[in-house]
Amino acid sequence: MAYQFTVPSRCMFGSGALDQCEMTIKEYGKKAFIVTGKVVTKSGILKKLTDRLDTWGIEYEVFNEIIGEPTDEMIVEGVKAYKKAGCDFTIGIGGGSPLDSAKAIMAMTVLDGEIADYIGKELEGEFPPLVLIPTTAGTGSETTKFTVVTDTKKDIKMLLKGEKLLPTLAVVDYELTISAPKGVTAATGMDALTHAVEAYTSRKANPLTDMYALSAIKRIFKYLPKAYKDGENKKAREEMALAAFEAGVCINNSSVTIVHGMSRPIGALFHVPHGISNAMLIKECLTFAVDGCYEKFANIARKIGVVGTETADEVAANAFLEALERLCETCEIPTLKQYGIDKEKFDSLVDKMATDAIDSGSPGNTVKEVTKDDVIKIYQKLW
Ligand SMILES: [Zn+2]
Repeated sequence: MAYQFTVPSRCMFGSGALDQCEMTIKEYGKKAFIVTGKVVTKSGILKKLTDRLDTWGIEYEVFNEIIGEPTDEMIVEGVKAYKKAGCDFTIGIGGGSPLDSAKAIMAMTVLDGEIADYIGKELEGEFPPLVLIPTTAGTGSETTKFTVVTDTKKDIKMLLKGEKLLPTLAVVDYELTISAPKGVTAATGMDALTHAVEAYTSRKANPLTDMYALSAIKRIFKYLPKAYKDGENKKAREEMALAAFEAGVCINNSSVTIVHGMSRPIGALFHVPHGISNAMLIKECLTFAVDGCYEKFANIARKIGVVGTETADEVAANAFLEALERLCETCEIPTLKQYGIDKEKFDSLVDKMATDAIDSGSPGNTVKEVTKDDVIKIYQKLW
């Protein structure tokens, strides 16, 4: 079987990565449209970028209206602001939300109609250059062709895609992740883990994504607890930044599966951050999926060192699930109840969530077949 493998056109990694990008960024134009959020602005990280742009003689317009996960309304406002300011290219800086927003805004500065018109289609066109600078280690948005935007009329998270959404330049500097608070470190780290495990056990997995996936999973099991405990641990932050990138490469070229499929409706309806809703689901979803590919789950267990090479696949696969549960505990992942979700409301929406999950197509990539009934049962098991 043939498969495609794509990554951003150019990437710069490591401490001080942005400083190395002057000549590259100057090629993109004279005025940048910076898409970010208030947290990044307040934390001083945005200033690090704008100081560089000032030094390099590049003008910019800051759009820091990304509050929470992106919605169609934010994208409309962003496109208006981009056009009004007359920018040449876009820089997204922040967590997954500003980066996903930057992709969507970039595309919609060129495309006609509303972003919801492009659900199920390829977002394609001659888009202006795009620089993505993650400040969390998790979503991997800087290395994917996807953007997730909420359709506020229908209360669904739209998964939109297009090869042209891959950035022209990804700048991955772990120093920018050091100020991320504990909750964000846990949520985004668990998101990266979910990406790697899902891509590895997806029907769309291929030898290259398998290589990136196992590498990411190993780093995350070793370094997420360290980064969570001590955000100043530079080695842990560096390893997590690499793992998030690797895991992003995985989903870009393989796919997510049941966890993300079931996670988006929880996010859309109960406003649970993406990484947390994944982490709430991952153990139950993979417990369901494990007998679809014992061998692969067993490989993960061997890679992270919770079993030896002689252990039988089924036993090893279950040892991975136990290790996963311990990791969730270490990172203090809340349950739906602890998060404050109303059970009655949840129960009344389970049917819609299951439909939306299946319709997103992601559960269909799971090696084991997933029905709507299976999805409903897993949602109920979360209580
Ligand atoms: Zn994700």
